[in-house]
Amino acid sequence: MYKILCLLTLISFTACGQGTTKASSTKINKMESSKSSQNPYYNPSQKEATVVPDSVWQQILSPEVYRVAREKGTERPFTSPFEESKEVGTYHCIACGNALFKSNAKFNSGCGWPSFFEPITKSALIYTPDNTHGMTRTEVQCGKCKSHLGHVFEDGPPPTGLRYCINGVVLTIEK
Ligand SMILES: [Zn+2]
Repeated sequence: MYKILCLLTLISFTACGQGTTKASSTKINKMESSKSSQNPYYNPSQKEATVVPDSVWQQILSPEVYRVAREKGTERPFTSPFEESKEVGTYHCIACGNALFKSNAKFNSGCGWPSFFEPITKSALIYTPDNTHGMTRTEVQCGKCKSHLGHVFEDGPPPTGLRYCINGVVLTIEK
């Protein structure tokens, strides 16, 4: 069932004209350009909502992170170093620092994007219906800064049966 949905996602991705070429050579990617030290809004200990205009985000985030996080883009599949990473820690929103997923909720879906079966807390995420690309999906956004993260599907493993399919570029890990 994963595979069918993954295939659909890939098809829609191709439909966007962005191609599905594997790009392992570009693996270690844009994270360097959006280090938290250059982003005054990256603050894991601040719990209040981070409300920042997109015009400001555009100056802070790298172009690829901005495209995914603020324009609901999708990173090319199989390009995130987090996809197969087994690093232990907590995944945070790269824009605001909100804690999103624990590494022990990560699993290998083979889908091309980092996948998790549950968020760190319910309120870490915002869920919104997404009917674009001829599909009925549920978009997940950061619960603190509303950056687009990815989608959640009901074909994940136990115990939740959910698969949070998340763009790696919007994640950073704290060990
Ligand atoms: Zn955020």
